[in-house]
Amino acid sequence: MIEVLAQAPAYDGRSPFPHAQQRVGDHAGQVALTATTVIAPFVALAAGVWLAWGSGVTLTDLLLAAVFYAVTGLGVTVGFHRLLTHGSFTARPWLRVVLAVAGSMSFQGNLIDWVATHRRHHAFTDRPGDPHSPYRHGTGLSGQLRGLAHAHLGWMFSSEPTPAARYAPDLLRNDPAMLRVSRAFPAWCAASLLLPFAAGWAISGTLHGGLTAFIWAGLVRIALLQHVTWSVNSLCHMLGERPYRTRRHDRSTDLWPLALLSFGESWHNGHHSQPDCARHGRGAGQIDPSAALIGLLERLGWATNVHWQPPDFLQHHRGVAGKHTLHTSARSPGSSRALPVYQGKGTSCPIKPGRPQTICLPPQPVTPDGPEGKRN
Ligand SMILES: [Zn+2]
Ligand SMILES: [Zn+2]
Repeated sequence: MIEVLAQAPAYDGRSPFPHAQQRVGDHAGQVALTATTVIAPFVALAAGVWLAWGSGVTLTDLLLAAVFYAVTGLGVTVGFHRLLTHGSFTARPWLRVVLAVAGSMSFQGNLIDWVATHRRHHAFTDRPGDPHSPYRHGTGLSGQLRGLAHAHLGWMFSSEPTPAARYAPDLLRNDPAMLRVSRAFPAWCAASLLLPFAAGWAISGTLHGGLTAFIWAGLVRIALLQHVTWSVNSLCHMLGERPYRTRRHDRSTDLWPLALLSFGESWHNGHHSQPDCARHGRGAGQIDPSAALIGLLERLGWATNVHWQPPDFLQHHRGVAGKHTLHTSARSPGSSRALPVYQGKGTSCPIKPGRPQTICLPPQPVTPDGPEGKRN
C-alpha cells in the first residue's frame, strides 16, 4: 500500500483516491444523508425512551447509561486519543491502565489498533492513505455520499488494515501494560455489558431491572457512543467551520452540535491544527470536557507534562473563519509561517519551542504531497 502511494501522482484534493470510482452530482442529497446520519439515531432513541417509559426503561437505567457513557467515552477521548495516540500529557502508570481499560469498554476495537488507525488518519488526512476520509470517492455528490458512508462505518469493513507495528511500535514493543490491556479486549467488552446488568440488578433488586439496565446502559449506550465517535471521523471532515490552519488537503472541521456528546472531540479542526495539544476546543465557548478532565488530573498531580497551547496561540493560528464548503477547499491568504507538523519523533513543534517533543508517529513514509504545513 505504501509503495503504491509513493509512486502515485500528486493528489489534487478533489479526485477520488486511487482505485476508487468517481461520480458527480449536486449537494442536496448529501446534506440530507448527513442530517439523517446525525439526527435519526437520536430521534429514534428519544422515541424509544418515550414509548418505553415506566415499563422498559427506568431512571436508574438512564443514570447508569450516563455514567457508563461518560466513563467509556472519556476513556476513548482522554485515554486512547489524547494520551496514547498523541501523547498530550504524561499519566501515572495506574492512570494509563485505568484510561486504557475504560476506552476498551467502548467496543471500538482494541486500543493498539485504535491508536494505529488514528495515527495513520493524521499522517494521510483526506488524501490517499487515510483509512476513513469522506473524500475517498472524490468531491462530487455521489462520491461524497459514498465517502460519508465509508468514513462513518464502511472503512471498518475495508481490506486495508493498518499495521500496528508501523504506526504504534511504542505501544506494541515497549509498553507491556498497554499490550496486555489491548490483548484483553474481549474481556473488557464482556465487562462493558455485564457491569450495567449487575448494577441494574443490584440497585433494583430484580432480574428485570438488570435486563433493562443491560439494554440501556449496555447496548444503547455503546451504540450511541460509537456513532458519536464515528461522526467525528465522517461529519467533522465535511460540515462545520474551519477556523484553524491545517496541512494541505486536510478538511477537518469544528462541529459544535457534537461538542458535548463527543466530550470536546468535535472541535476537530482545532485538533488537526495541533494534534498533540491536550485541548481541542480553543475558542470562546468551545466546551471541551476531555480537556477539563485532563486539567483536573493535572491539579491532582496524576497528569504531568500537559501540552496546553501558549497564550498567543490564537493570534498565530487563527486562519480564515467561515463555513466549510463541501465541494471546494477553502484557501487561506494567511501567513506562510510554518505550522505545527505532525511528523513524529525527533521533530520540533514551532509553537512550543523548548518543550519535550511528543512521539506522535513512528518515522513516516513521505506522503504524495510531502509533510508540508499548508492550508487546504
Ligand atoms: Zn480527523
Ligand atoms: Zn487525533
